[in-house]
Amino acid sequence: MNDILPEHAELWTFFEETVQDWLRSYGYRSIRMPIVEQTALFKRAIGEVTDIVEKEMYTFVDALNGESLTLRPEGTASCVRAVLQHNLLYNAPQRLWYMGPMFRHERPQKGRYRQFHQVGVESLGYAGPDMDAEHIIMTARLWRRLGLPDIELQLNTLGTGEDRTRHRKRLVHYLEQHLDQLDEDTRRRLATNPLRVLDSKNPALQDLIEAAPRLLDDLDEVSLKHFEALQAMLRDAGIEYRINPRLVRGLDYYNFTVFEWVTTRLGAQGTVCAGGRYDGLIEQIGGKPAPACGFAMGVERLLALLEEYAFQPPQIAVDAYLVHQGEAADKFAMAAAEQLRDQGLHVILHSGGGSFKSQMKKADASGARYAVIVGDDEATAGEVSLKSLRELEGQVRMTVDAAAGLIGTAR
Ligand code: ATP
Ligand code: MG
Repeated sequence: MNDILPEHAELWTFFEETVQDWLRSYGYRSIRMPIVEQTALFKRAIGEVTDIVEKEMYTFVDALNGESLTLRPEGTASCVRAVLQHNLLYNAPQRLWYMGPMFRHERPQKGRYRQFHQVGVESLGYAGPDMDAEHIIMTARLWRRLGLPDIELQLNTLGTGEDRTRHRKRLVHYLEQHLDQLDEDTRRRLATNPLRVLDSKNPALQDLIEAAPRLLDDLDEVSLKHFEALQAMLRDAGIEYRINPRLVRGLDYYNFTVFEWVTTRLGAQGTVCAGGRYDGLIEQIGGKPAPACGFAMGVERLLALLEEYAFQPPQIAVDAYLVHQGEAADKFAMAAAEQLRDQGLHVILHSGGGSFKSQMKKADASGARYAVIVGDDEATAGEVSLKSLRELEGQVRMTVDAAAGLIGTAR
């Protein structure tokens, strides 16, 4: 779990503001859920036989009432719970988004942390492939806005429940013929949830997984139609993709579309965004059946990618640093700083005393463009002295309003 220090905060702020602006441009509204939920919600929504529920959740007992609670490992379950609890789907579908920390007890490594952040987007109540397409098209636009090239779109479909039942038989038959090659995890999954075997990260199993029967070959007409329609919309939008028949996603609740955006620039943790359709989830956690789809981006991975491309966030510069000395000056400076801020300027008021010389050093180090100097002379006259910290000019006496005007126009 990482601290995000001020030297990194500008990149985070830039990213968050870009994302908010982007989501607004597609008409998505924000929702904020608590970071703790009843454990049962995640078990029901994500599925018992998943990495997350089997070994990654931070679960604890509430000492007050013995209830089992869990730090959220992802946002979809909480979002859908909130939407149902507050009846938001009563007469309108919803386009929603959230951003915040998620918690998974994983082995920490580059791009994999125990507290990490996701931007999640959920469209609830939309059945058509146009919504799957919207999600993919909008993420493509975000990569463009962020100046991130070379993120590959991988696409697959998980079909319907019936498709998967049919496929399951063929897959189990195949895996049973290779029992000796399976590890302990996949052997267990073979019995409980064989599709999850395809999700295994064990390098020794990759060849076996590669040669396994493909769900794509077991799809019925409805699934194929949805998948074809989505692909046609992506082609119309000029979005390139690669069909990856092995893409199954770590969570249980998906049907039809699944997708991942993957980069080769971040080593093993290359998936920066993942999502798909989950028409069964709302009913599974107690709501009236309604279709839905969504995706989540890994913020740390996207920021690492921005840094990989040497991206510099816009600097939020300090406009003025106010130095002041003397009883009358201290008082006047405090009011002057507020007056400058009234004009929309970013102003640091020196704190902690010291000589003019040492205060000027702090002004320089702050990165401010101007020093605004107040001695008792200035205070008595109700004025300040303005000095550029970027150019070798002297200092000029003027009113606070005049200083605000000058600093503002020079911005
Ligand atoms: P992986 O296969 O890498 O474990 P996942 O399938 O568990 O990924 P999702 O649950 O789909 O991941 O989460 C969506 C996105 O959140 C991921 O694509 C990734 O960018 C990010 N993410 C997931 N887990 C972590 C983590 N532990 N640390 C940082 N980012 C993460
Ligand atoms: Mg994972």
